Formats: sequence, structure tokens, C-alpha cells
Amino acid sequence: TAMYRSKANGRHSTSVYDGRVSDWNRRRHRLRQDMLYALENGQFLLHYQPQVSLRDNSVVGAEALVRWQHPEFGLLSPAAFLDIAEESPLIIEMGAWVFNEACRQLRQWQDEGFSLKISVNVSVRQLASHDLPEMMTQAIKRHGVSPSSIKLEVTESMLAQDFDVMSQILGTLKQKGFRIALDDFGTGYSNLAYIRLLPVTAIKIDRSFVTGLAVDNGALKLVKGIIALAKSLDLHVICEGIETTEQREALESTECDSIQGYLISRALPAETFLANFLRLTQSAANDKPSRHRPGSV
Ligand code: C2E
Ligand code: MG
Ligand code: MG
Ligand code: MG
Repeated sequence: TAMYRSKANGRHSTSVYDGRVSDWNRRRHRLRQDMLYALENGQFLLHYQPQVSLRDNSVVGAEALVRWQHPEFGLLSPAAFLDIAEESPLIIEMGAWVFNEACRQLRQWQDEGFSLKISVNVSVRQLASHDLPEMMTQAIKRHGVSPSSIKLEVTESMLAQDFDVMSQILGTLKQKGFRIALDDFGTGYSNLAYIRLLPVTAIKIDRSFVTGLAVDNGALKLVKGIIALAKSLDLHVICEGIETTEQREALESTECDSIQGYLISRALPAETFLANFLRLTQSAANDKPSRHRPGSV
């Protein structure tokens, strides 16, 4: 605001700025109003971003990422609406829809002979709800998928809010057999003692650590240290936001298990994910079920 204002030499620039703000507010207001209708009328959808084993390049999983096909504003990313959803109880419903849809899609792909895990993001309000394990248990039963093929992604910053409640709910979920990954690892309250206390099975090292990997030796040392620590705790390690071959190659000198990022692919509609990744990379696995199947993640 200050920057805009100081550059605004007259009423004109200021009103352009104010105009933009009120457009933005108006749109957010619309999205807030439209959200319940959108949920009830199938305007939300999931895109899938591949997760690839660093060892053999096989596709081991997909992260389900929510999108909103808005009739007026087009295809919206979470940045446009997730915080609005999180302000309201609708985030619980949206989260349940996302989880059910991810299970349904996983079942369909498994029925077609493919083997992978699906990662699903869980919001802070979901994680504060004691109904969460029950919702998830019902969903996996309904769709006939195993909890071990589902990875719940929670961010460490969430846990700063109500550590005891959330780690108890996570503990219940882990006991039921779900995998649990600490998302955006390193950006929140990176009290390293946390990860020993938490019922998690994996860490997902944030993109911000990956950015400097190929250019800066210090960055690589830091990432190696984090990975070594996670490995000493028997955690699975995935690095997100891999955009260049240099970053990928730098990770090959670490114990990182798998990677995710634009270098491999952006998040894709289910059909495209199937055609570009499952059909192409797992056809061998379909012929010989015991061999090229991805291992446990
Ligand atoms: P996240 O869970 O950390 O997901 C990774 C985000 O980074 C995704 O953005 C993904 O498209 C993007 N990304 C992946 N690879 C690269 C890369 O190489 N470079 C760059 N610059 N970005 C990359 P997206 O889909 O916009 O999602 C943003 C965030 O919204 C997610 O961050 C997650 O926190 C949240 N989110 C997405 N879907 C859901 C959902 O179904 N439920 C909840 N509660 N949150 C969700
Ligand atoms: Mg995530
Ligand atoms: Mg992340
Ligand atoms: Mg993120």
C-alpha cells in the first residue's frame, strides 16, 4: 500500500489502485458466496502431480491438488480460494470431498492395474476435528482402498497451533495404517525435536531448500544434513519443487527417496496423468506384476 501511495502523484493512480483492491475484494466475496453451491454441484476437481523414485525413475505416487472450475472465473488454484475456505466450516466438507475423490480415483487406477500411492493434503481445521479418522476410515471402506496407499500431508506450522490435539489425531490415523508426511518441511516451526515426537512416516522437504541446491554448496550440505537426520529416524524423504536437472542430480548424492516438481510434470488432470505417467511408465509392471512395481513409500 505504502509503495503504491508514495508513487501515486495524483488521484488517478490512487483510484486505479483502489479499484483493483475492490475488484479483488468483490471477487473474494463472490467466491465465498459460491463455495457451497460449487461443492454441491461438482465444480471442484483434483489434479495429480507425479512423485518419482530417485533410484529408478518409477512413478511411485501422485499428490492430489484441488482446483475449482468456476463458471465465471475459470480454473482456480488453491491460492485463489483455499484461505477463504479455511475461514469457514466448508473447509471440512471440501476436505472430505477431496479425500473421497482421491480414494475413488486411486481405486479406479488400481482396478486398471496400476500401483501407486496418493498423497492428500489435510488442512489445519480438518486436523483439529476428532471426526477426521472416522471420515477417512469410512471413505477407504467405501472405495475399497488400503490406508497404506494413502499419504496424508500436514504442514508443520499447523502443529504449532494445538500440538497435543493434532498429534493425537495423527497418532490415531497412523495407527490405522495411513502414511503421514510433514509437508513444506523446514519452513515452519522447524524444531527438529518435533519430528521425533510426531507420528509421521515421511518428510517433504520444501521447495525453498531445493532452489539453491545446484548453485550453492552450503544449500546442498544443509539438505544432506536434514535428509540424514530424517533417515536416522527411519523416515521416508521426498523433495518438492524440483525444476532443473541440476537440482535433481545434486539430490542423487543424497539419501532422498523421491522427488516431485515441474522438472517431471506440473499437476495434471487425472486422464492426462494416466496417459503420460501410469500407462507409459507402468506398462512393464502390468505384464510382470512382481517386478517393476514401485516399492513401499
Ligand atoms: P503443497 O501441498 O506444498 O503442494 C505443492 C504446490 O507446489 C502445488 O501448488 C504444486 O503445483 C506446486 N509445485 C509443484 N512442483 C513445483 C515446482 O517445481 N515449482 C513450483 N514453483 N511449484 C511447484 P498448488 O496446487 O497451487 O497448491 C498449493 C497449496 O495448496 C499446496 O501446497 C497445499 O498446501 C494446498 N492444497 C492443494 N490442494 C489441497 C487440498 O486438497 N486440501 C488442502 N487442505 N490444501 C490443498
Ligand atoms: Mg502437499
Ligand atoms: Mg509442500
Ligand atoms: Mg507448499
